[in-house]
Amino acid sequence: MYCKIAIDGPAGSGKTTVAKELARRLNIDYLDTGAMYRIVGLYLKESGISPDANEEEIQKKLKDLIIEYKDGNYLANGKIVGDEIRTAEAGVYASQYGANLTVRSFLTNLQKEICKDRSIVAEGRDIGTVVMPDAQVKIFLVASPEVRAKRRYEELKLKGKEISFEVLLKQIIERDKNDASREIAPLVKAPDAIEIDTSELTIEEVIEKILEIVKRKCKFQ
Ligand code: C5P
Repeated sequence: MYCKIAIDGPAGSGKTTVAKELARRLNIDYLDTGAMYRIVGLYLKESGISPDANEEEIQKKLKDLIIEYKDGNYLANGKIVGDEIRTAEAGVYASQYGANLTVRSFLTNLQKEICKDRSIVAEGRDIGTVVMPDAQVKIFLVASPEVRAKRRYEELKLKGKEISFEVLLKQIIERDKNDASREIAPLVKAPDAIEIDTSELTIEEVIEKILEIVKRKCKFQ
């Protein structure tokens, strides 16, 4: 039986680090759906399409975009996607264009296809509610906005990108608002998800908590 693990939560709650490490320890696949929203956000922005453009215009542009997921890499029209999607701006574009119905159904279909017939840890905002409502394990990670902004600050600093903490905090609060208030697939905890506040926990503590749940819920263990 496949083990499907959904990790949802706001930006900076620890999803990526936790989901990647969980997949590694369980030796199963990992999917970062945020990366896909970032790819589409950047692509539409660079194509000069406004986030408020009509569905037809967006649909037409998305027809020219093929996203593939191979050996842990994303390819956009055959080209490997790199760190260009990891900027704060790309996060903002992902959030803006991610509120669009056409963008969401384009990516949701792709994600459902990738998650089908395999054990996987998938992370995002709507995995437990929309992409894998049948996941045996649903985790909703939370942390205070200040803790999350500090994590993003350290992360970007390590990559040599300087951005002020205040700007990051503002972006995180803005993105939370956008993600939670949009009409389609808002950031919301699935009724059967287990919430873990990571503000005061180490990565290892979060992973151990989730592994315990996986052991109880997934038969392949
Ligand atoms: O996880 P990450 O910060 O890379 O996601 C960037 C943005 O993509 C989020 O702020 C959110 O607006 C959007 N997103 C989404 N649904 C997902 C994953 C990401 O709307 N499943």
